[in-house]
Amino acid sequence: MRALSLALLLACAAATAQPRLALPLTIVMIDGSGWTRERANAALREAAGILEQCGVALEHADPLVLKVPSDLMDFSTPAARELARAHPVARPTLYLVRDTKSHPAFEAEAIGRGNSGTRPEIADTVWMIAGVRDPGVALAHELAHVLMDSGEHSDEAGNLMRDETSHKSTRLSAAQCARLVDTGKANGLLN
Ligand SMILES: [Zn+2]
Repeated sequence: MRALSLALLLACAAATAQPRLALPLTIVMIDGSGWTRERANAALREAAGILEQCGVALEHADPLVLKVPSDLMDFSTPAARELARAHPVARPTLYLVRDTKSHPAFEAEAIGRGNSGTRPEIADTVWMIAGVRDPGVALAHELAHVLMDSGEHSDEAGNLMRDETSHKSTRLSAAQCARLVDTGKANGLLN
C-alpha cells in the first residue's frame, strides 16, 4: 500500500512539472544591417535562457541572410510588409534589421495578432535594429509580447515586461508564463 502511494505521489509530481514546449523561431538577417551571426546567436542564447523559466525551449536554425534594397533595410510598417511578401518564411520570425523609421522609434518591436489587423503579413514577428541595447533581454521581451499576443507591460521590479528593458529585469510571473504558454499554444506558435 505504501509503495503504491509513493508511486502515485511521484506520478502527481511528474504531472505538475512544467511541460516543455518548443518555440521554433525563423531568423531573417538583413545583409549589411550591422547584425552579425555572433551577435544574433548571443541574443538568441540569452533570450532562450530567459524563456526557459516558462518551460519554453527556443529553437532556431541558422539565420536566413537577405540582400534587399536600402529602403527595405529599416523597419517601417510598409517596408516590413513588402519584405514579408517578397520573402515568405515560417512564423514566428525574428527580423534583424538596420534601423527603424517608426515614430516613436523603438529599438525592437513585436507584432502579434492583436496589433496586426491591417498588416496581416507581419503577424507573429519581432523586429530588432542593429543598435538595440541588451539584445537578448529585448528579444525575450518582444517574443513574450508575441506569445501572449499582448502589449501589456508590468511595473514589477525585475520583471521582463517592464516598459524599459534592462539586463536586470528578466523575470516572468507564474501568471505571465501561464498566459504566454496558453496563448502561444492556442495561436500555434508553441508545440
Ligand atoms: Zn514591450
